[in-house]
Amino acid sequence: MAKKIVAGNWKMNTLKDDAQALASEVVNMAKDEVPTDVTLVMCTPYLHLANVKSLTSHTSQVFVGAQNCYDKPSGAYTGEISAPMLQSYSIDYVILGHSERREYFKETNATLAAKVDIVLANGMLPIFCCGEVLAEREAGEQNTVVSKQLEESLFHLSAEEFSKIVIAYEPVWAIGTGKTASSEQAQEMHAYIRSLVKAKYGEAIANDTSILYGGSCKPSNAPELFACPDVDGGLIGGASLKSRDFIDIAKSY
Ligand code: PEP
Repeated sequence: MAKKIVAGNWKMNTLKDDAQALASEVVNMAKDEVPTDVTLVMCTPYLHLANVKSLTSHTSQVFVGAQNCYDKPSGAYTGEISAPMLQSYSIDYVILGHSERREYFKETNATLAAKVDIVLANGMLPIFCCGEVLAEREAGEQNTVVSKQLEESLFHLSAEEFSKIVIAYEPVWAIGTGKTASSEQAQEMHAYIRSLVKAKYGEAIANDTSILYGGSCKPSNAPELFACPDVDGGLIGGASLKSRDFIDIAKSY
């Protein structure tokens, strides 16, 4: 069965003290309120990772993720952060292919394939984002776009490697816009993604793959989204910056 995961993408938000407070609140509230079969992940800005990691040392429910990493292990790449560096801080997850990285930093499916490889090679779990932009949805091209993203960035992996992947379906038109995909739209795409994984890697791996929904997910709409049979959790942007909202989303199953 796919693991239930609620991951928070803090993006480029929180100063040092805010990060400390938010992470501490999430860890404390999770302990008392979130069922133990739900995994929480806080994907923080790089600078806060070490501190947030140390705040999670007493819990086996809350994990820490980065929001990106470079596709080379080390060297003359000023300003970049490598997967081995993240691993040396015992970081658990790395978001790859977020639509903001694809749009503003021109990340391609091919670059992302290399990032997926280096994250796996360093023992961390990729949260791989896919999803269509509004014009693609309006043209009915969402399935083609998403299958190409998976095909070109993930489907070179062996079955063993693929079993470490978490997929986040994030329709770009729903990210930070307040416009959520309907539960029917989410379920339809998640079932389609699972069918692609099944065709490539077989039924057992497809059933075990966590497929998260992302895009204006909040406490009010999470229960309906998480009730969909192929929605295994969420990748949460704005609402992950408020501990109460993030925890309430995690309680929505
Ligand atoms: C995201 O950035 O991954 C996201 C889903 O953002 P939001 O929840 O704010 O739409």
